[in-house]
Amino acid sequence: MNIIEKLKKAELKGRGGAGFPTYLKWESVLKEKSDLKYIICNAAEGELDLKKDKYILENYLDEVLNGIKIALETIDNSLAYIYLNKEYYSLIKDKVRDPKITLIQEEGGYIGGEETVAINVIEGKNPEPRKRPPFVSQKGLFQKPTLVNNVETFYYVSKIEKGEYEQERFYMLVGESIKGGVYELKEKMTIREILKETNNYPKEPFYVQAGGGVCGEIFLEEEFDQEIIGEGFIRVITYNEDPFKIMERWAEFLNSQNCDKCTPCREGIYRILEMVKNRNLKGIEEIFLALEKTSFCALGRGAPTSFRSLINKVILK
Ligand code: SF4
Repeated sequence: MNIIEKLKKAELKGRGGAGFPTYLKWESVLKEKSDLKYIICNAAEGELDLKKDKYILENYLDEVLNGIKIALETIDNSLAYIYLNKEYYSLIKDKVRDPKITLIQEEGGYIGGEETVAINVIEGKNPEPRKRPPFVSQKGLFQKPTLVNNVETFYYVSKIEKGEYEQERFYMLVGESIKGGVYELKEKMTIREILKETNNYPKEPFYVQAGGGVCGEIFLEEEFDQEIIGEGFIRVITYNEDPFKIMERWAEFLNSQNCDKCTPCREGIYRILEMVKNRNLKGIEEIFLALEKTSFCALGRGAPTSFRSLINKVILK
């Protein structure tokens, strides 16, 4: 069985958040005709408090590199880049010696996780997203067909090739009331199961932010029997924590990390920050709708999810 068939059989989905079947990405790059193709391992991980890729790079770098090498062997005439945030670059820069793999220190921050931002930065352009189509599998880095997967996906490609994959994934838990950390557990687990299995179930009343990082939705205790999707990130929040301060931190982060390319996101997030600082949420839903309907990329479109669910489920409850 070749690696594409193995990826398909294993039902591996990309672990960068979008959850797209990995074998389909690989297949679409393979079928393109080109004298040169590129592979990018995205290790930007600029999400607030998220350090899963760091944990994998620190503990399983050989597996990640093996996953990239499998891609290099599978895709003819290809070269690979690992696109790293500055901290992770320092971690691995002396440990990668393959002439077909180049390390790039990124400047993209939070939006560096978006594949077209990564491509722009590697090309020396502004860290902002590109319009699609064309898709990166057709015209990506330097207009060549490009495969972009994140660190965790390449780690599991290696495991699948070796026949060692058992439908796991990495989760990261954070919160003032818990020990937290990074854990490798079954791929399909409910929020409650993850909290219990990792001994991170606080005694005091709490709720969680789960799925995406700063854009992840809020779930109350009666909703903990849902499976976690997206980035595998859980933030545990107790009712003693000030929800306005939490929103202010999200808004500060997004305001500092958006790329300023489009008005709804640039202005909208700034207004959200003002409103949560002033503790006056009048009109905030209109801003949420404008962001969702008119932002250029997923950062702006996804930004309202966490704010809206915290407001509706916790503040207005
Ligand atoms: S929504 Fe617009 S401003 Fe915000 S990150 Fe995307 S392109 Fe940049």
